[in-house]
Amino acid sequence: MSGLGEFDLIARYFTRPAKRSPLGVGDDCALLAPAAGMQLAVSSDMLVEGRHFLSTVEPARLGHKALAVNLSDLAACGAKPLAFTLALALPQVDEAWLEGFSRGLFALADAHGCELVGGDTTRGPLNLCITVFGEVPTGGALLRSGAQAGDDVWVSGTLGDARLALDVFRGRRTLPAELFALARARMEEPTPRVALGQALRGIASAAVDISDGLAGDLGHVLRASGVGARLDADAVAGRLAIGAHALAATAGLDAQARRACTLAGGDDYELAFTAPVTAREAVAQAGRASGTPVTRIGSIEAAPGLRIVDAQGAPLTQRFGGFDHFA
Ligand code: ADP
Ligand code: MG
Repeated sequence: MSGLGEFDLIARYFTRPAKRSPLGVGDDCALLAPAAGMQLAVSSDMLVEGRHFLSTVEPARLGHKALAVNLSDLAACGAKPLAFTLALALPQVDEAWLEGFSRGLFALADAHGCELVGGDTTRGPLNLCITVFGEVPTGGALLRSGAQAGDDVWVSGTLGDARLALDVFRGRRTLPAELFALARARMEEPTPRVALGQALRGIASAAVDISDGLAGDLGHVLRASGVGARLDADAVAGRLAIGAHALAATAGLDAQARRACTLAGGDDYELAFTAPVTAREAVAQAGRASGTPVTRIGSIEAAPGLRIVDAQGAPLTQRFGGFDHFA
């Protein structure tokens, strides 16, 4: 607790001189200057305590995650981060919390050259809402609507780690301490695939970030594109990997649990994207150039709907819904 007021709090923890934006924190509006020939990409994501994060999360990790989930949306559009705003409801002024939160937030912001240019601060139940602004060449944004029958379906990174950690927190699963720490880090400090998204411009035909689970979020691409897809459940389940400990971590999970974690785990800030078969080498090169693993997991088909099949090509009977706060 402290006697810090709203404006001192903003000045101490959330005001830094704007470097690339013409006007940052302190006026009624900030001013941004996207380069000539670029479009502004804008996205907001809100984190509510108990709903999107547990009260046990370290403040620095929460600061990281609040921005990471937003940068992930820019990544999915192939946009380059420019700036963000932060709307914050705090139950009280807790300077230790503010110090940790702002440290984690700015570490990730600096890593992406994305600056905090404004926001709003109020008292209330802990709630964080960031809006990010990025730039993308006019007409060059990756959209959900471009997938074509015959395209490959790809996914970045690994899937299911955050779900494993959440299951441990909920007492539904146990993991050795070292593996839990790695899974927890994936859940609390996700890596937004910003460099991959930009590298896929002009290569991917559609993209989406799969924060609500691969099956559900890929469904958005299929509907927007007017197509369907066939996914190889076992290629996907093979993406469950906690750091270098994939085998140890997956050893205790049966096939059904592996598929559930990877296809519908949620909180995976990876990209699912589609690209023509002729672009396979270009996709692999984009993965290498951005230091991001990419895996081919299926193909787009003309018939609507998502068909998830096992290694023998037999359809799975298990259902994998996307996350819906009101379902
Ligand atoms: P207004 O009254 O116009 O809404 P405020 O008095 O709420 O402005 O905020 C003062 C300045 O501080 C504004 O430039 C606003 O963008 C900025 N600001 C408020 N909260 C934050 C925050 N959490 N992070 C960064 N900037 C903030
Ligand atoms: Mg205000």
